[in-house]
Amino acid sequence: MSPIPFLAVKGGPHERGLAHGHRFASEIADNIETYLRRFAASGLDRASAFVEAERWLGAIASANPAYAEEMRGIAQGAGQREEGIALLNARYELAFTLFGKEAVRAAHGRELAPADGCTTFGLLPQVSADGHAWLGQNWDWLEGVHGRTFVLRVERADKPGFVCLTEAGIAGGKMGVNECGIGLVENGLASSADGRHPYCKPFHVRCREVLDAQTLDEAMLAPFEAPRTCSANFLLGASGGEIVDIETSPDHASGLHAQDGIITHSNHFLSEGHGESLLEKIAPNTLARVDRMRALLAKHRGAVSFEHMRSAATDHSGAPYGICRHPDPKQPVARRTMTVGAVLVDLDARIMHVANGPPCCNEYAAFSV
Ligand SMILES: [Zn+2]
Repeated sequence: MSPIPFLAVKGGPHERGLAHGHRFASEIADNIETYLRRFAASGLDRASAFVEAERWLGAIASANPAYAEEMRGIAQGAGQREEGIALLNARYELAFTLFGKEAVRAAHGRELAPADGCTTFGLLPQVSADGHAWLGQNWDWLEGVHGRTFVLRVERADKPGFVCLTEAGIAGGKMGVNECGIGLVENGLASSADGRHPYCKPFHVRCREVLDAQTLDEAMLAPFEAPRTCSANFLLGASGGEIVDIETSPDHASGLHAQDGIITHSNHFLSEGHGESLLEKIAPNTLARVDRMRALLAKHRGAVSFEHMRSAATDHSGAPYGICRHPDPKQPVARRTMTVGAVLVDLDARIMHVANGPPCCNEYAAFSV
């Protein structure tokens, strides 16, 4: 795989969105089709998906007008209907509501269904070789999205600049770090309470609001703001060495902290109060990955280097559903997942290293804010 594409934008939200949409028009069209196929595989047909997308368009406009303006720019630049871009920006809520329903059905039928997974970690300065705070993530998601992602660098007058890894068509970004040293990685979670509050501020808008923040306190407001439509895990960090993990479900949020300088997470709840945790019912590998990642990093506690982090991210224990995930040929194409991107974020240097696919066979490239 070639290195990940990169786009630097500046100016106001519409101008930035226009540049994004224009540059990645064909990838945006591909992503819309990939999600429509994936939703259809779980029983949400095209027409219903667009009805949902229209509702989300209104929800995003009232939750964060600047974000909605950036989406309008993307739609215009890519030659897409605004509903198509809203479908991408609310795809987390659309997908995870469906996954939760599948998990409930699967648990009753004793069947396994592939769900997405992600493995994340945070390192406090006392455990890293360079004395910096680090975040890392293997982003495991639909095979069809691989190659349709890019690194976005944003420069703007009113808020901090940042770099993030995102999907073509999604304004918010996902993993990233900003010029104040605030960084973010995340994991999908699903709870029996999901969907209780429809059309709240979506996950990807919250990700952008973390990267809008100047302090960790301010960044934490984005995941904490209730109510929420779907569950998610946000692992936040700040240069200088603060790291906080926030598990969220529709009516509850709880903080987790590093133990002996290391925190790891995957796709099941680690704290109480969130209802029934669902993804482990259809993807039990999540239960192993969180501990496996901790063990791989803890071996080098006090001297964890970039090479140690890279090596942990390439671990294949539990293949093909390990930390470094490869497509499972036994699954139908629309449902296949893989590590579509991997990041190692140096919060103190404000540099995000990104591999364009499984890190065992893709080099990390460095992007500074
Ligand atoms: Zn691999």
